[in-house]
Amino acid sequence: MTTFLGMPATAPRGVGNLRGDETFPAAAHHALADDQLRRNLRHATTTIRGKSGRVIAELPDWQELRSAGSALKAFVMANLDSLLEQLEARVTAAGGVVHWAADANEANAIVLDLVRRTGSERVIKVKSMATQEIGLNEALEAGGIQPIETDLAELIVQLGNDKPSHILVPAIHRNRAEIREIFLKSMPGVDPDLTDDPPVLAAAARKYLRETFLSTTVAVSGANFGIAETGTLAVVESEGNGRMCLTLPDTLITVMGIEKVVPSWPDLEVFLQLLPRASTGERMNPYTTMWTGVTPGDGPQNFHLVLLDNGRSAVLADPAGRAALHCIRCSACLNVCPVYERTGGHAYGSVYPGPIGAVLSPQLTGVADNASLPYASSLCGACFDACPVKIDIPSMLVHLRNKVSHPAAERAAMRAAAYTMDHPKLYARAQRAAKLARIAGRRGRGLPPPFSGWTASRDLPEVPQQTFRDWWASR
Ligand code: SF4
Repeated sequence: MTTFLGMPATAPRGVGNLRGDETFPAAAHHALADDQLRRNLRHATTTIRGKSGRVIAELPDWQELRSAGSALKAFVMANLDSLLEQLEARVTAAGGVVHWAADANEANAIVLDLVRRTGSERVIKVKSMATQEIGLNEALEAGGIQPIETDLAELIVQLGNDKPSHILVPAIHRNRAEIREIFLKSMPGVDPDLTDDPPVLAAAARKYLRETFLSTTVAVSGANFGIAETGTLAVVESEGNGRMCLTLPDTLITVMGIEKVVPSWPDLEVFLQLLPRASTGERMNPYTTMWTGVTPGDGPQNFHLVLLDNGRSAVLADPAGRAALHCIRCSACLNVCPVYERTGGHAYGSVYPGPIGAVLSPQLTGVADNASLPYASSLCGACFDACPVKIDIPSMLVHLRNKVSHPAAERAAMRAAAYTMDHPKLYARAQRAAKLARIAGRRGRGLPPPFSGWTASRDLPEVPQQTFRDWWASR
C-alpha cells in the first residue's frame, strides 16, 4: 500500500537550491580542473573519516545502533501523518504556533510574513539545510530582510557570495588564505591587519557575531529532530553559535522538514549516539539545544514551527526511494565517496551533495530535473557501509537510473538484448558472433560506434574461450 501524507508533488522550479545550472558531468569537469579544491577535499575528508572510524570502533554495539536507527526511521515514515499531528498538538499546547508549508514558496512566504510582523529588518540564522533548500536567504533579501548566517563556515560561504559544498563543512572548498580575503572584503568592522592564522580568523568572526547576536531580535533555525510525544525541537551543532540564536532573540522561527519527527525521547537517544560519531567523529555532540514551545521569562517568547514538505511526500510515495528520507544529514557518505572526494559538492548542483544528494535531490525535484545525479556514483557501496541509518544508497541509485529517460538507441539495444536472451538459439548465435568479433580484433578496443560511449569508461568484458554451452556439449 502506498502511503500519502499529502499530494505527492515535487519541489517547485524557480525557487530554492535543489537544481543546478549544469549536468553533473559538465560541472564535475570544471571541479576536476581545480587542483587546490581537490587537495582541500582530500585533506578534509581523510581527516574526518579517520576520526569517525576511531570513535565508531569504540562502540561494540554500533551495528545494532545502526539497525535501531534504520527501524525507527522506517516506523516514522509509516506513521508520518499521525506523528506530525501529535507534534503539532504538543507544540501548540506548549505555546508555539505551527504552520504547514506545502513547498518552498509557501515556507518562504510564511517566514517573511512572520519576520515582518516583528518589525525587525534582520534575522540571525542557525545552520540549516532546510532553509538553504528553499532559498530562504534569497527570499528574505528580496523582501528587504537581511539574513545573517552564524555558523562560521556558513558565514564564510555567505560573505563570499558562494554556495556550500559539504553538508557539515560548507566551506570545505576554501583554505585559510581565501577565508582571510573574504573577511577583509565583506565582514563589517574587520581589522584590516587580519592574518590568515585560524585563531585570528575565528576571533574576527566571533567579534562580529557577538555584536550581531546581541542586537538582533529574530532568529531562524532548522531542526535536527522534533519529538512528537512532547513537542520538543532539537538542534545539534559544534560551535555554540546556534545556541546563542536559539536562546537570545525574542522570536524564534524554525523550519523543519516533515521527515525529522521522531516518536519519543528514547528514540532520540539512538540518534544522538549515531550522529556525532558518524559526522564529526565525536563521542558526544558539543552543543545539543532542545526547547518545547515557549517558557515565560526564559528564551524566545514567540515560537513558530514551519513544517516543510517541498517534495517529501513525493519521495514518501515511492516505496523503493523513500528511505532517502531516513537521512540524518551526518555527511558520512560524502566523506567516503570517491566521486565526491574528487568533484566536491558544487558539481551536484543541489544543496544536498554527495551520495545522499544523488538520491534525494532527483526525488525531491522529479528525476527529469536532476537526471544526471543518479549516475554520479561508481556504485562501490562505501556510502551504504558508512551510513549510520543503513540507507541502501547504491540500490536506490540503480532504481533512479531506471526512471531516467534513456536515449532511443540505448533503449532499442536493451530491448534487442532482452529479446536475444529470451530465445536460446538466438542467444547461442550471438555468443558465436561475439567470439568472432573477439577474434576479429575488437578485444581491448571497446564497442564500435554507435555504442562506443558505453565502453568509453568501462572495460568490455572478455568473451571466454569456451562458453557454458560448448563445455556442456563437449561432455
Ligand atoms: S545518507 Fe546516511 S551517511 Fe549520508 S548523510 Fe544521510 S545519514 Fe549520513
